[in-house]
Amino acid sequence: MGYNQGMNTSELIMKYPLLEKMINKEEVTWINDRKLSCEDWKNIVSVSQKDIDEAESLLRRFAPFIQKAFPETASTNGIIESPTVEIPAMKKALNQNLRGKLLLKLDSELPIAGSVKARGGIYEILKHAEDLAMAHGMISREDDHSLFADERMRSFLSHYSIHVGSTGNLGLSIGIISAALGFDVSVHMSADARQWKKDLLRAKGARVIEYEGDYAAAVSQGRKMAAEDPNSYFVDDENSINLFLGYATAGRRLARQLDEMNITIDHDHPLIVYLPCGVGGAPGGIACGLKHVYGDDLHVYFTEPVNCCSMLLGVMTGLHENICVQDVGLSGKTEADGLAVPRPSKLAGHIVAGILDGIMTVDDSRLYDYLRQLWDQEGIFIEPSSCAGFAGPDRIVAADPSVNTEGAVHIVWATGGSLVPQEIREQYYKKN
Ligand SMILES: *Cc1c(COP(=O)(O)O)cnc(C)c1O
Repeated sequence: MGYNQGMNTSELIMKYPLLEKMINKEEVTWINDRKLSCEDWKNIVSVSQKDIDEAESLLRRFAPFIQKAFPETASTNGIIESPTVEIPAMKKALNQNLRGKLLLKLDSELPIAGSVKARGGIYEILKHAEDLAMAHGMISREDDHSLFADERMRSFLSHYSIHVGSTGNLGLSIGIISAALGFDVSVHMSADARQWKKDLLRAKGARVIEYEGDYAAAVSQGRKMAAEDPNSYFVDDENSINLFLGYATAGRRLARQLDEMNITIDHDHPLIVYLPCGVGGAPGGIACGLKHVYGDDLHVYFTEPVNCCSMLLGVMTGLHENICVQDVGLSGKTEADGLAVPRPSKLAGHIVAGILDGIMTVDDSRLYDYLRQLWDQEGIFIEPSSCAGFAGPDRIVAADPSVNTEGAVHIVWATGGSLVPQEIREQYYKKN
């Protein structure tokens, strides 16, 4: 399916003037004029709080296995969660005029995969493992799921294979958890993927298949290989409800953390969240989970690289997965490997179209400035893709001064970084 649906690029520009700036790779801030009230959105959205709670229950069932297989999760009893911290020094450095609180959600520190993909990716594979084991009478929902660490279960799962296409972090998350369960796992990596991510995956026991072309080539080959084998399962980043649900569990969990920090969210204390966006599944799932909890007191902005603003293109034009950045002449190439997805998710785009407050694009060079600033000000390291959210507070305060209040709680979502090797961190820090 082509994107045009009877419309060419100049007609699109006529209808959506912002597109011209996007095509010129200028940084833009798009405000969603089709945002719905939370109530109206809930009436049409396909993902309910009950679905998300069921995903959370599955993660709880697997906690004893996770704790056994990944001892670094002992402190949270096998629950994969990250801290939320206040970053006052970064706030001052970012914008002297920013009022309210500035927090950082440290999904860069999520155990096992070191990125936001530890939410969706691990959930999807655990769900698949449980489905298989239950279908073969190997386990029931009530059984202690640390059984999944036993040789008998691993040998059962070794007859099944997993395929996934990835620019890096999704592959890491799927590869590591699949190998830990005993699955035969292949990660199809695009040319953008960083070498250390490939090396790490191989060390964890995953098969890494490399492609010259972009992400789309890696994904389509993975999909094809999975389709040829009936014992095979393809993790579909563009359309997976299970990935989405895994991400969405972040909603209630963040709410518990804010409660513990005595941070109230209400009409006078709105929560404003800035999420880096690639295909849209991770930020979409998180936004959906948060919306169910906070309703109209939540404001959500996605941030994307200027060269790969696929979700903005899809949501703004309403063409969603029927348009990709190359259709309007953008390269899709970006230093932000975690965001280098040229075509937006079908599933996520339709769900978030009604809850997004806006989307902003960020020039790659800014990512390294934020990376240095965060390290210098707070001693926190995150990877370049993960820095995109820092463009948010500034831009919003400029676009709509009325949101710049003392009561506002801004959360920049850090999405990856803890697995980055030391010498690569130093390269990033020095990069112009
Ligand atoms: C994957 C990823 C994202 C965005 O997730 P999508 O589901 O692709 O939108 C953001 N940051 C990092 C570091 C990622 O790896």
